[in-house]
Amino acid sequence: MPYRRLSFPRPLLPDGSDGLRLEVRGFLSEQEFEPRCDSWLSGFDPEFSRRLAVRGWVGMTWPERYGGHGRSPLDRHVVIEELLAAGAPVAAHWISDRQTGPLLLRYGSEELRERLLPAMARGECYFCIGMSEPDSGSDLASLRTAATRVDGGYLVSGSKVWTSHAHRSHFMLALVRTTPEAERHEGLSQVVIDLSSPGVEVRPIRLLTGGHHFNEVVLREVLVPDAMLVGREGEGWSQVLTELAFERSGPERFLSTFPLLRQTVEVLPAGDGHAAEEVGRLAARLLALRRLSLSVAGAIEAGEAPAVEAALVKDLGTRFERDVIESARSLAPDGPLAGLLAQAVLSAPGFTLRGGTSEILRGVVARGLLGR
Ligand SMILES: Cc1cc2nc3c(=O)[nH]c(=O)nc-3n(C[C@H](O)[C@H](O)[C@H](O)COP(=O)(O)OP(=O)(O)OC[C@H]3O[C@@H](n4cnc5c(N)ncnc54)[C@H](O)[C@@H]3O)c2cc1C
Repeated sequence: MPYRRLSFPRPLLPDGSDGLRLEVRGFLSEQEFEPRCDSWLSGFDPEFSRRLAVRGWVGMTWPERYGGHGRSPLDRHVVIEELLAAGAPVAAHWISDRQTGPLLLRYGSEELRERLLPAMARGECYFCIGMSEPDSGSDLASLRTAATRVDGGYLVSGSKVWTSHAHRSHFMLALVRTTPEAERHEGLSQVVIDLSSPGVEVRPIRLLTGGHHFNEVVLREVLVPDAMLVGREGEGWSQVLTELAFERSGPERFLSTFPLLRQTVEVLPAGDGHAAEEVGRLAARLLALRRLSLSVAGAIEAGEAPAVEAALVKDLGTRFERDVIESARSLAPDGPLAGLLAQAVLSAPGFTLRGGTSEILRGVVARGLLGR
């Protein structure tokens, strides 16, 4: 059976990236925040997002005419690597910056771009992801939320679930069914739903810890004007695959527990050979993952769509994030690590589910390798 070779070219960071990295570290050293594990999901701080935006680090790669800064994806990679490594509270703008903005740039109308992108780049406009539904997760194409055509737009009814931060987002980018009778991948479209619209109910789903980022979003005949359609009606499936590639390919898929790894290294007693070996193994894996992730970023910058490579990095990366927790737990179970360890343990069940489960990603990789 002939296998396709995966393409992981040697990644090259742009000239000046060391300077940019130092700039970000300088900025972070002036900020007051408690480093967190999984800060890109759990560290929601609009003030921090706005301060980051003032430095030009939100919407960094977008054209200036939409409030962006025209920087390269690899420059952005450097910035987000530093933010994640520091455990900085970046969740408020994370989804807008990572996937909704780039999706609007690729498929959105000029009107939508002008209306939304500048506010996103100022760190003031937050989006949530409206894909999963109570009966549709991995099999996303089975979703049922219906958008029925009416004069001037659609009436959207259904419910979305596991919607992180819907209760504090301004908009949801939702995948909905616009043609119920079409083949299941063909009748889908993407729409922007203003979460302040009549008919939107955001119900909290509390975590076992009492924390709250998940929601169920119930939509009852919510009027979505034509202008809020993203791309073309019926093209939602191929568009959402692009969105998932943005969602899956970044360094947050292996850096969620980096603050814990860093602190573990800081508290280990000098001269402990077993601990040094364990940490060395993790460090080697981290460096390999970083090279893989950078080469995915490089391929995206070159206009390629490395979906298979991105799926592989996410699968290996989320396994690494969990192994960091196990190592920290066995090397230094109490004392100074307790806070970060507890955060990491409680977040870990989600690592291999969110953005596509490991089983689904391995299916993507297997089909990709077989050229199907
Ligand atoms: C922390 C977190 C944040 C999230 N945030 C959002 C969000 O903001 N917006 C949003 O839309 N969704 C969000 N999700 C939902 C997430 O996308 C889904 O949980 C995920 O797609 C899996 O769907 P499911 O939970 O319905 O599980 P299911 O699809 O029911 O899967 C259950 C199990 O069966 C396995 N399985 C399913 N199909 C196959 C198959 N064909 N082959 C092999 N194994 C299979 C899966 O791997 C999994 O182990 C979030 C999830 C988490 C954990």
